[in-house]
Amino acid sequence: MAVYFAVLRPGDKMLTMDLSHGGHLTHGNKANFSGKFFEIVHYGVRKDDERIDYDQLAAMAREHKPKMITVGASAYPRIIDFKRMGEIAREVGAYLLADIAHIAGLVAVGIHPSPMAHADFVTTTTHKTLRGPRGGLILCREKNAKEIDSTVFPGIQGGPLEHVIAAKAVCFQEALQPSFKAYQEQIVKNAAALADGMKRNGYRLVSGGTDNHLMLVDVGAKNVTGKDCQIALDEAGITVNKNTIPFETRSPFQASGIRLGTPAVTTRGMKEAEMAAIADMISEVLLDIKNVDAAHKVRERVRELTARFPLPY
Ligand SMILES: *Cc1c(COP(=O)(O)O)cnc(C)c1O
Repeated sequence: MAVYFAVLRPGDKMLTMDLSHGGHLTHGNKANFSGKFFEIVHYGVRKDDERIDYDQLAAMAREHKPKMITVGASAYPRIIDFKRMGEIAREVGAYLLADIAHIAGLVAVGIHPSPMAHADFVTTTTHKTLRGPRGGLILCREKNAKEIDSTVFPGIQGGPLEHVIAAKAVCFQEALQPSFKAYQEQIVKNAAALADGMKRNGYRLVSGGTDNHLMLVDVGAKNVTGKDCQIALDEAGITVNKNTIPFETRSPFQASGIRLGTPAVTTRGMKEAEMAAIADMISEVLLDIKNVDAAHKVRERVRELTARFPLPY
């Protein structure tokens, strides 16, 4: 909100990723403030490989001449080409906002390309792969710093949350340690192993797999909804969320996908072997989705696994 309000006026045009293709509500969705204040044009992924179509994006940028382009996603399992996004934005004179909320931890340790050289603004949450407190962070060029600061305060916030600022400092200190790099690397290895496990069990993944910490499983292809999968897996003690998939045919309240990520299980010390076991457990629950007794049997295995990998403190 601070970035938008610092450099845009109500009614300005933004080119952003569609929520149902992996984008975020704050990237111009109609239900969100961002979709009410600004004129929104959406880009998305290609139908055949479900990856961002940069050529289509460039063509849309030339056609619509947006004041800002945003890049960054909540449900996109592939590497994002920030360099290409920077070129597209510069060609049409648009600001580029890279919202790396999900992948900030991967970017911090260098296992996902950084947007820093290519974007005018980089925003992130501190509570996803960065593994800090619930909060946010804005990075910008010096020339925009004053506008950003005054848009945050007095523009959109009151007093600072000092306790969260302290927790962010702890988060950044942790992110500077060699163990944090090892953690991020294991997240990505675990996601690859979990993706392999789901494929071995016959599931189709959006885009065919993952390069990062998350994946989208197309459960619609098995004639069940994301919502029913989420509810059944909750009974088994496995937390996932229903999620729309690109070119979704169901309502977002039902959805054809579930979204799986590995940051939390990796924090507990789980590795590739445990990912294979988790994939089998998920598959077992989903095979007989209305069978609560079967889900509770799986829950016992979940409890054995989590007891072997207790939360660190
Ligand atoms: C999670 C996320 C945000 C922030 O959402 P919160 O509700 O504060 O967690 C912003 N942008 C993207 C792309 C996100 O994934």
